[in-house]
Amino acid sequence: MKLSLFDLHCDTACEMYGKHQSFAQNDLTISSESTAKFEQYIQVMAFWTDARLDDESGWERMIAMRGHLLSDPSVISGNVRTVTVCPPRQSHPALFFGIEDARIFAGHPERVDEAFRLDIRILTPLWAGETCIGGSHNTQAGLTAFGKQVIDRAVSLGMIADISHASVRSAEEIFEIAGAHGRPVIASHSNAKAVCPVSRNLSDGQIARILSSGGVIGLNFYTKFLRENGEAHLSDLIPHVEHFLERGAEHALCIGGDWDGCELPPELKTIGDMTRVAELLLRRNYSEQLIRDLFFENAYSFAANHLSGNTTKH
Ligand SMILES: [Zn+2]
Repeated sequence: MKLSLFDLHCDTACEMYGKHQSFAQNDLTISSESTAKFEQYIQVMAFWTDARLDDESGWERMIAMRGHLLSDPSVISGNVRTVTVCPPRQSHPALFFGIEDARIFAGHPERVDEAFRLDIRILTPLWAGETCIGGSHNTQAGLTAFGKQVIDRAVSLGMIADISHASVRSAEEIFEIAGAHGRPVIASHSNAKAVCPVSRNLSDGQIARILSSGGVIGLNFYTKFLRENGEAHLSDLIPHVEHFLERGAEHALCIGGDWDGCELPPELKTIGDMTRVAELLLRRNYSEQLIRDLFFENAYSFAANHLSGNTTKH
């Protein structure tokens, strides 16, 4: 079966910028060639800034990284489209933009609006440690006053708040703020903590909150989030899929592969090897419909409902 893919998280834009590479010609896991296998392909491209850069330099780097992507020959020719609303079915490969680690707002509240004007629609506010936004997964801290202001403005503009990388407290506060606006919360690239108990994965309580908010969850292929000792194979994905399905995530579970941002299981060399994930699931007697939902339909419905442009207040 030919599949479509809507992936919620990759770091490919950062790598392409850092290596001066393009969508058509690169040595990365996402390229024109590796994505040509899909009937339709939609990707959230996260702009992440190297943690060694200070917040201000990080903002400049994000602008430059975005500029690099917009001047990519595939984007200029129209073979790949950059989008802010859910594209039609059967259209060209499409890229949504996200920011991962919003510390680069650096205490400037107006940068939330600026980011929206720069077509950022997915906001992953935290990454590691404590920042001007708040506490990440490896801390006990919640959001700062500035962090709360950022999330509030971002969701009111129509951005999607993402709790991947957030601390337990920060995630709790993100749910509250987004909930007050009637907006969903997602975890773009996180697995189940009950299966692999690392701070980057989701507790059952968080899974329930995401589902009740109308959000989605992207399965992450990073070996250390699949299996605690990090010696993961593709089959280690199955217990996570099972756990999410047992908790009612059938229409919310998606892929957020963390491509070009992590160490992948040996079976996955590029995103094109997602066909192997489909084969694995078919062998385990998952239905073709469930595989299509997981690969594409769940994320597509989410984007059609929540990234339609109608919720935007300028
Ligand atoms: Zn990440």
